[in-house]
Amino acid sequence: MTTSITLNNGVELPAIGLGVFQTPPAETVDAVAAALRTGYRHIDTAAAYGNEREVGQGIRESGVDPADVFLETKIWISDYGYDETLHAFDKSAGKLGVDQLDLLILHQPLPSAFERTIGAYRALEKLLADGRVRAIGVSNFMPAHLTQLLEQTEVVPAVNQIEVHPYFQQKDLQELHREHRILTQAWSPIGGITSYRESARRSFDEPVILAIGEKHGRSAAQVMLRWHLQHGIQVIPKSTKPERIAENFDIFDFELTADEVAQIDALDTGARGGPDPESITLETYGRPIPEA
Ligand code: NDP
Repeated sequence: MTTSITLNNGVELPAIGLGVFQTPPAETVDAVAAALRTGYRHIDTAAAYGNEREVGQGIRESGVDPADVFLETKIWISDYGYDETLHAFDKSAGKLGVDQLDLLILHQPLPSAFERTIGAYRALEKLLADGRVRAIGVSNFMPAHLTQLLEQTEVVPAVNQIEVHPYFQQKDLQELHREHRILTQAWSPIGGITSYRESARRSFDEPVILAIGEKHGRSAAQVMLRWHLQHGIQVIPKSTKPERIAENFDIFDFELTADEVAQIDALDTGARGGPDPESITLETYGRPIPEA
């Protein structure tokens, strides 16, 4: 099993990265440095996470050559529109302390103001053409949003970062990605989103996953991450704990059988944990992203 994935424009992305959503700024430097020392070479952050500055600091303090680290961030909806998004790149790059980003994506579609989403994507195309970013993409785009984007813009997104874990798999959307050679990047890959609400059914307690883990001497998280990799899905598990960061990376020396993969495929409930992308509006989710 390879440890990197080639994007549709030839750029190489590690198969696993560290996510830092909800990682408090004060813990971000250590989490990022711990991940890089463990062997991770991809960090996924976002302007809206409020920790880009600390991600940059963690990279610089890790002892790993920053040139070897694949850095991904996201433009928040409040910065959509062509000129606004060009400026949002400067804000993110400034906070991260880099001149060039490896992957820059739109965090959400704005279905009620889609022309602003298109303007934002055209800015990403410009940044790509100018060499300020090495690849561009989107996140939380549903089939209709993706189809509209493909009709109105030139560059096929390299990735669509979407909610995928055993309880919510979005197989139709993944099929559309395959048709257009868009990589599926899984957010909440180990089902973190299933554990944020007390009443929810937690992926970590799923008997099918625990039984498979027992056979391989692996944790539920490791089984879920391995399942994604065997489907060709890129993963960005989040943890602030060094032992879990290491556990989540230790997935390249075992293999699930086809039957085990099918057992996990069968856990799909069709119910998303995150907000419906159609419900995202500037009025409800907009907030200013500070200058660098
Ligand atoms: P994950 O599926 O990565 O799960 C994270 C949760 O699981 C945290 O509570 C973490 O706690 C815990 N955890 C981590 N490792 C283990 C382990 N080995 N065993 C048990 N528990 C564990 O969920 P996220 O929602 O954080 O998603 C991952 C990343 O995806 C985000 O950080 C972000 O980068 C991205 N994302 C993108 C979104 C988008 O809209 N584009 C939306 C949501 C996420 P602890 O830290 O205490 O270890």
